[in-house]
Amino acid sequence: MIKAKKSLGQNFLVDKNILEKIVTTADIFDKTILEIGPGTGNLTSCILEKNPKKMFVIEKDNQLSNKLKNKFQNQINIINDDVLKIDETKLFKEKVTVFGNLPYNISTEILSKWITNLKDGFWFECLVLMFQKEVADRIIAEINTSNYGRLSIICNWKLDIQKICDIKPEAFSPKPKINSSLLFFQPKKNFVKIKPSSLEKITRVFFNQRRKMLKKPFNQLFNGDQKVLNKLKINLNLRPQNLNFETYYNLASEYENLSR
Ligand code: SAH
Repeated sequence: MIKAKKSLGQNFLVDKNILEKIVTTADIFDKTILEIGPGTGNLTSCILEKNPKKMFVIEKDNQLSNKLKNKFQNQINIINDDVLKIDETKLFKEKVTVFGNLPYNISTEILSKWITNLKDGFWFECLVLMFQKEVADRIIAEINTSNYGRLSIICNWKLDIQKICDIKPEAFSPKPKINSSLLFFQPKKNFVKIKPSSLEKITRVFFNQRRKMLKKPFNQLFNGDQKVLNKLKINLNLRPQNLNFETYYNLASEYENLSR
């Protein structure tokens, strides 16, 4: 019996219906699959039943990694490492489909890394990922809501996002204290060409004081530039949550023009 490690966010999925739901969210047959944090291998088994062409898993826990080796032998390629240290853009010959019941303490860090690390095109076909519900709500948040912010703006920049379902704590062992949500991400064909660092800067400064009017962050970054205001039709009496996605991407682009 394996004792779950809290520090590694180990809550193993045990509900068969949920596992089935996850593996029917994206095509698996004949695809190359990457699973993040396979843990005891419950999801891994369900994925293998659908006959992928190849399967890779990244698991940080040495003990679990060894167990997975015994359990699955040469059916999977095990990378016993920290997902945050891996450069996925160099790992695969073809685009992969990613599954993961992510360790919740680093889930946003993983997703942000994947979005900001994209170089020439996407290394994945789609992502099927489980998050803590509260985080998922921020990822899929729409304009004019209190959840709308940096995370939704950065995620929506390059990805189309769909919520598949919410999942109760009872589906896991040990039972977490929070609800979870399953999200499905697909690469966007068109997105504004900006540097991740400028989008990060813009959203950081604008959402630093989310209840205040836009005047202050705008002046801080653009020194009151009227041309930018007119071009992007921004009303400085609004609040950060009232500007749509495109306006933030365009602001990042204007910011790059300034700093040249
Ligand atoms: N997918 C499994 C387990 C999910 S729990 C299931 O659904 O049953 C999260 C898993 O991620 C654990 O196995 C944990 O050891 C692993 N993990 C935690 N931090 C990690 C990291 N930085 N890199 C890779 N794996 C990690």
